[in-house]
Amino acid sequence: MTSIYSELSRPELGRMAPYAPVAGNFAVRLDANEAPDALSEESKRKLAECAAKTSFHRYPDATQAALREALAQRSGVTPAEIVAGSGSDEIITLLMTAFCRPQGKSPVATVLTTTPSFVMYRMCAQARGLRAIEVPLDERWDLAVDAMLRAIEITEPTLVFIASPNNPTGTCASQARLRTIVQAASQALVVIDEAYVDYAANDACALYQEFPNVALLRTLSKIGFAALRVGWLIGRPACINLLDAARLPYNLSAASQALAVLAVTDLVEDVRRVTRGIVEERERLQHALQGFDALSTTPSQANFLWVKTNRPAEEIFTALKEKGVLVRSFHDKGGRLAQQLRITVGTRAENDRLLDALAEVL
Ligand SMILES: *Cc1c(COP(=O)(O)O)cnc(C)c1O
Repeated sequence: MTSIYSELSRPELGRMAPYAPVAGNFAVRLDANEAPDALSEESKRKLAECAAKTSFHRYPDATQAALREALAQRSGVTPAEIVAGSGSDEIITLLMTAFCRPQGKSPVATVLTTTPSFVMYRMCAQARGLRAIEVPLDERWDLAVDAMLRAIEITEPTLVFIASPNNPTGTCASQARLRTIVQAASQALVVIDEAYVDYAANDACALYQEFPNVALLRTLSKIGFAALRVGWLIGRPACINLLDAARLPYNLSAASQALAVLAVTDLVEDVRRVTRGIVEERERLQHALQGFDALSTTPSQANFLWVKTNRPAEEIFTALKEKGVLVRSFHDKGGRLAQQLRITVGTRAENDRLLDALAEVL
């Protein structure tokens, strides 16, 4: 018997499963692209003092004024060009709430993205009954320009999401290709997801300044503050105003707002020290991984490595897991992902444990 709930819900939801990170305790957890716990004691003391000053009996600032100001300063834009959310995930849902008018002949709005990429674009679109179209990246994990141009022409997207650096491949979209796509999608909002920009050589600020249909998505999650749930969009004021209209007034807790301000102002040097250390470890780890005949890595602009294995990735994933080292495997996606692992760069000690475990496994 079908339950009343399946009758009441969007049919797409019945086919979706909740996003479920691997549970359990692992000595070395390198599966979620978090930064290691590496802030100085002084930074941690400042965070504790800041949290203690929260007015717990009051609602938080619905206008996010102090946070917008601090994020605007950090990004070289005005506060009117910023909206913050509970992680960039919430911004993705807000974008799909605000910008969901079908274009052209499609009965529902189209969200265009690439594959493999961040799964939340597709999941959030499906949960809202929007059409998600995923164009495969080319053989070097860069944007497949011709296929993207054709998809833009045929599907007339409302929203285009391009992660650069991309998750899970760690690669940046080449600037010229990105530009071509932004120009071709002039009737859509092109969101460039820069969750990993702090680990990359380039950002898309110039593209944002040049094209009014571009917005940039940023987050604190990958630089040591995943627990705060603070992400933000940099967009034109006309775009931000509509997102503010769609946003719940108290989407960010007072503690998250205050701690995020601290993270991007007073703590900025300490955070930079941490991210620089991760980039150094990334290069060391990549070099060490290249020493295994069974593995090859793609140069990374993020805080993780995209690793090709010479056997089904699941075998290595499972063997590492049994040794207490959790990485991310893409074997269940099949095709060209069947032999791919994504490994977050951890502390030096964690990376060494990974390398020791790999030496035993391979
Ligand atoms: C991790 C990740 C995010 C999500 O970040 P939150 O701010 O934690 O919601 C967004 N985009 C990409 C590409 C990511 O890898």
